[in-house]
Amino acid sequence: MTMINIPLSRPDVDEQDIQSVVEVLKTPYLSIGPKLVEFESKIANYVGRKFAVGVNSGTSALHLIIRSLGIGGGDEVITTPFSFVASANCILFEGARPVFVDIEEETLNINPELIGQAINKNTKGILSVDVFGHPCDWDAILDIAQKRGLYVVEDSCEALGAKYKERKCGSFGVASAFGFYPNKQITTGEGGMIVTDDEVLANLCRSMRNQGRGEDMSWLNHDRLGYNYRLDEMSAALGLSQLGKFEQILEKRSQVADQYLNRLKEIDEVNVQFIRKNSVMSWFVFVIRLKEGINRDRVIEYLKENGIASKPYFPPIHLQPFYIKQFGYKMGDFPITERIASQCLALPFYNALSNNQIDIIIDVLKKAIRSQKNI
Ligand SMILES: *Cc1c(COP(=O)(O)O)cnc(C)c1O
Repeated sequence: MTMINIPLSRPDVDEQDIQSVVEVLKTPYLSIGPKLVEFESKIANYVGRKFAVGVNSGTSALHLIIRSLGIGGGDEVITTPFSFVASANCILFEGARPVFVDIEEETLNINPELIGQAINKNTKGILSVDVFGHPCDWDAILDIAQKRGLYVVEDSCEALGAKYKERKCGSFGVASAFGFYPNKQITTGEGGMIVTDDEVLANLCRSMRNQGRGEDMSWLNHDRLGYNYRLDEMSAALGLSQLGKFEQILEKRSQVADQYLNRLKEIDEVNVQFIRKNSVMSWFVFVIRLKEGINRDRVIEYLKENGIASKPYFPPIHLQPFYIKQFGYKMGDFPITERIASQCLALPFYNALSNNQIDIIIDVLKKAIRSQKNI
């Protein structure tokens, strides 16, 4: 009997990618070199932005955006509790307060209709996340922000390649952030990018990623407080190589998602991602929602016992131990997020996932749900 072992995620790195990284190692430029500049310009072009600033993670990208907007102590930023923790943490880094607003039942993104009641005189911005690669309701969010004079920050870390009304995700905030961790659509190992049309903001981010150095980059001149958030040349080269075949990558991911969607029609107890008519999804993870009454954690356990990785996606941010301790959040604060978070799980999802493997996953999932119902 062969053991089944299907991971949740796997990067898609080919010989060409490996070669492009090895080539960098033969040059004297391992950091602050031509690959970063080229990677930035290609990402800016792809998204339709004037400027891009490469950094060492998506979290660093978000942090520099918040800091360059001057958001700090006493300020509030409205955001979603249904996301990866970094999208709220970046607000805390600057001493500002994340104010959570519950999500839309269908898209799992922040609900624009609930934003108004969370705005007060301390509110400086809305940080909205294109969750799982499904675009937010950008018209509604931009409309509120304009009327109330708020900054919009877009966390598009999960959404490279997604579109809202023909416009790419990453083009909606005053600045937007991408992440290139190995489970994202393209990877640099660790890495991230800020994209914006605002030259002042771009220059500030560029300075702050490099120890606050001035634009002439004079090595021991520090104009402001800065960090070391630089993206090295090997990482930039890997990102460039991956970006060069991004259309094929998106196509492979769509095919895997379509195969899942097809097979999941056979399971009544499972709901799949809703996609708004005006939007194009860029599949980041493949998350299913189990109908009420099915114990999600037991399903995950059953899959694991049968060699298939899966994960609760996302546990709500406001119920993370650190947020409970710091802010006193409790169950019931954001009921839609909490209910959905308790029913969702991510199934294995990566470019090389075969139809045969998906068949195995579906068979085991059926058994998992059946066994669970008998308890
Ligand atoms: C991946 C991700 C980030 C950035 O993560 P890093 O690991 O710092 O690159 C930020 N926000 C969301 C929603 C993400 O999924």
